[in-house]
Amino acid sequence: MELKSVCEALVRRGYEAKVVSAAEAVESVAALLTGVQNVGWGGSETVKELGIRDMVAKSGIEVRDHRTDCDLFLLSANALTTDGRIVNIDGSGNRVAASVYGPKRVVYLIGRNKIVDGGIDEALARIHREACPLNCRRLGKKTPCSVGECPWFKNGQGCDSPDRICKVTAIFDRPPSRTPTTVLLVDGDFGY
Ligand code: SF4
Repeated sequence: MELKSVCEALVRRGYEAKVVSAAEAVESVAALLTGVQNVGWGGSETVKELGIRDMVAKSGIEVRDHRTDCDLFLLSANALTTDGRIVNIDGSGNRVAASVYGPKRVVYLIGRNKIVDGGIDEALARIHREACPLNCRRLGKKTPCSVGECPWFKNGQGCDSPDRICKVTAIFDRPPSRTPTTVLLVDGDFGY
């Protein structure tokens, strides 16, 4: 997968985007912290694995977990199509809400493993096959995907479990009009 071409697709759609190494991802977020009073974090494993959540906390800036009212919101994507569409699922909706409206700036950190070679169908398949099962196991959710295949592959609807984590699906064709959005494509595999 050529990260450069995915990056170019994101730029064509109106995102500020660049390809970075893991170290450069940390430096890029650090450079955006000037004047920032608080940073929102929606539970992203990618942001955690890159050490960015710790870096922000150690800098003395308040980290607002699962909050949308912040100067800068950090998150990843569950899937990114090669033509630059971001797809995210949510249980409570806080992460999707913050990525649409509220924060003064949104920054995505997206590893290679999130890129799907295809369109929205492939993105949704990745989410139900990889992202949700791993997140359900991590969170101790009792869903079909935590022990086997998600019913979405047979019924196109998913499960009826009270523990279901994919209740909201957001597809971003372009960055939202009032939310400056940066995408850092990280050259490595991070998160689910
Ligand atoms: S619909 Fe249910 S089983 Fe399927 S991925 Fe979502 S939580 Fe898992």
